[in-house]
Amino acid sequence: SALSAPPRGLQLQDVFIAVKTTLAFHRSRLDLLLDTWVSRTKQQTFIFTDSGDRGLRERLGSHLVVTNCSAEHSHLALSCKMAAEFDAFLASRLRWFCHVDDDNYVNPRALLQLLNALPQGHDVYVGKPSLNRPIHTSEPQAHNRTRLVQFWFATGGAGFCINRKLALKMAPWASGSHFVDTSALIRLPDDCTVGYIVECKLGGRLLPSPLFHSHLETLQLLGAAQLLEQVTLSYGVFEGKLNVIKLPGPFSPEEDPSRFRSLHCLLYPDTPWCPQLAAR
Ligand code: UDP
Ligand code: MN
Repeated sequence: SALSAPPRGLQLQDVFIAVKTTLAFHRSRLDLLLDTWVSRTKQQTFIFTDSGDRGLRERLGSHLVVTNCSAEHSHLALSCKMAAEFDAFLASRLRWFCHVDDDNYVNPRALLQLLNALPQGHDVYVGKPSLNRPIHTSEPQAHNRTRLVQFWFATGGAGFCINRKLALKMAPWASGSHFVDTSALIRLPDDCTVGYIVECKLGGRLLPSPLFHSHLETLQLLGAAQLLEQVTLSYGVFEGKLNVIKLPGPFSPEEDPSRFRSLHCLLYPDTPWCPQLAAR
């Protein structure tokens, strides 16, 4: 009818961004994200951690979610956080769920561009395939039997997104305590569990995207122009060496070891702490 709102493209307000972290990384990793990309996505971003933190609470308010998950690197603890992220997304009523780690940079413009180009009427699970082949595992069945299953999954450390239509179908395996149970059943980490639910339980498919990046790949290989178009980036140590994106500045490697501050100034030159070239 004439009264119905015209269809509109996706906006950042439609996206729920969940960041997984832990007490040990509040200062060393999270502050960097809050200074950079999270400052541009504050209303959409929720930080999932395991311990309260007065400084973070002051900066984030209700966008800091202190879960009851334990502060350890076990499958159980990590799946517990993914479950909390998923449930908070379902409660939010937003259109897209995106998960990232606390060593990811999210480019909101590139993220919106990607999501806008995806078919809205379909189930969507998009991210970087973790392996170049599906993972195989055995799924316990009734009467002590097992069934061999295989599926693709997106590396959690590169970030991935799921639309609401798919998330609602995942709820029987992913909401509340079900996610941890599903993860325990297949004895695999949280990101594998997401792939298992989508592909083995629902018959869906991971949509591979080259725009998501973890520190398991050589980040130096991305060219300067490409960097500005990626949905996620990362940093970390690989085989004893710092694995970071290649950017000449404006900050030195000592000032900005992750290169996230330098990248942020390229994307958002009007940021107060970025060198104001035009003013000189
Ligand atoms: N993490 C966590 N609890 C832990 C250790 C790590 O929630 O005890 C989170 C961490 O904050 C990050 C993700 O798990 O978001 C991956 O951790 P990390 O980057 O240290 O390890 P990776 O698996 O990438 O080598
Ligand atoms: Mn990592």
